[in-house]
Amino acid sequence: MATKTKFQAIRGTRDLLPPETALWNRVEQTAHEVFATFGFGEIRLPVFEPTDLFARAVGGETDIVSKEMYTFTNPTSLAAMVREIEKGGSASSEMGTLADMLPEAEMISLRPEATASVCRAYIEHNMQQLPQPVKLYYMGPMFRRERPQKGRYRQFYQIGAEVLEVARREAAEHDWEKEVRKDAAIDAEVIEMLMTFFAKLELAGTTLYINSIGHNGPDCRSVYMGKLYNELLKIKGKLGADSQRRIATNPLRILDSKLESEQSYIEKLPHMADYLCPGCAAHYAALKHQLEMRGVIYRENWRLVRGLDYYMRTTFEITAQGLGSQNAVCGGGRYDGLVELLGGPPTKGIGFAIGEDRLILSLLESAKAPAQQGRDVYIAWMGERAHATAIRAAKDLRKAGFSVELPPVEQKFGKALGQADKLGAKYALILGDHEVSEGLWTLKTLADGSQAKYTEPELLEHLRKSKAVSS
Ligand code: ATP
Ligand code: MG
Repeated sequence: MATKTKFQAIRGTRDLLPPETALWNRVEQTAHEVFATFGFGEIRLPVFEPTDLFARAVGGETDIVSKEMYTFTNPTSLAAMVREIEKGGSASSEMGTLADMLPEAEMISLRPEATASVCRAYIEHNMQQLPQPVKLYYMGPMFRRERPQKGRYRQFYQIGAEVLEVARREAAEHDWEKEVRKDAAIDAEVIEMLMTFFAKLELAGTTLYINSIGHNGPDCRSVYMGKLYNELLKIKGKLGADSQRRIATNPLRILDSKLESEQSYIEKLPHMADYLCPGCAAHYAALKHQLEMRGVIYRENWRLVRGLDYYMRTTFEITAQGLGSQNAVCGGGRYDGLVELLGGPPTKGIGFAIGEDRLILSLLESAKAPAQQGRDVYIAWMGERAHATAIRAAKDLRKAGFSVELPPVEQKFGKALGQADKLGAKYALILGDHEVSEGLWTLKTLADGSQAKYTEPELLEHLRKSKAVSS
């Protein structure tokens, strides 16, 4: 006998349900509003892209690309290969089998982040021809095959923004100090926008950490990396397996380690700040000055390196309360050169990504979430004539912006009032045949049980006024 299958959401994914979705909407609405005041426009991107885009942009050695992506062969590409083989008929021997051709099939991945896609879109749509800088923001699901836990999911949501600007070499050579100050002002404004957004949401206990990781040049990070590598070799035996492996693959990430036993050794490693070239040092100093001018409070954290390869100079992270060890709600940084790496013109970039799931968790923890959204009016009707009036009343009230529950069948008034209470309705509008013929409708305030009679226009007016007072 067939057993009944009970379907469940796949591990690491989840359903977002009301009333929590109301909070998601409020967060997203606030992002639309705040980002617009800073001149950002929304970009909507595909959820999957060529795997190579992420490998190139995020970096092949990062955890994200090396083990966390959902990658598959593009079925269209497979079908094309099958057609090729079939067309070839007997001559297909030199084309080989599908298995031989498979390595050439196009691989696609669900996006683990969106900066790479924004850069791809900037190039694809020649956005360097628009007035610069181009300021874009996005929101939507991202996918990473990580171990699910509180604040860490396999499908999670990010709200992010990017500022992209054609790099003018002459400008940089003519007056590099001015250029550095301009970039730092852009970085600071992006961070200011972020903090404005969090403040508007009343997100509690936020801390902004900043750092500079210099640039990938022989007079800057390369010197530091050499130094760091030598020091890491000296303490290799004291480090955990992950960090030992990273000495060869991604030594900067070791600074990011949370492993307790390594901390005392990592604390003594050299700091990037002591190796910044004059340009990067001036940029970092200007960033701090710019943040101060904007009243943005920050803390420096020399170990903040971020997990993606493309960052340079500014990196930042924001933590919030109530999140346990997954307490970073936002990460970001500057990534000059990434657009060029993806085949575009020399371009500067700075951006951030907010973990929306964690942001919501933190808002829920600090009880800044709105109470359950109840109905404004529950219409308790009885009788055929009353039904017609109830339908019209519901239409008018909804048009005026009230949330109305209109039961599909008539109920005894006692039961209807109980139902209204359960739904958290503010008012019950009582419509029986008597009220309809009298032209006087009874409105019951559920909080205190008081009731009063109104004509139809009076009732609308009364509800409008009470709404204006409460909102
Ligand atoms: P962490 O290591 O703290 O998860 P990350 O360095 O991988 O962060 P980014 O790639 O910079 O994070 O992404 C920016 C933000 O997206 C993070 O600060 C976090 O809030 C959120 N985020 C990242 N991965 C996940 C995930 N698997 N589930 C939920 N949120 C995530
Ligand atoms: Mg991560």
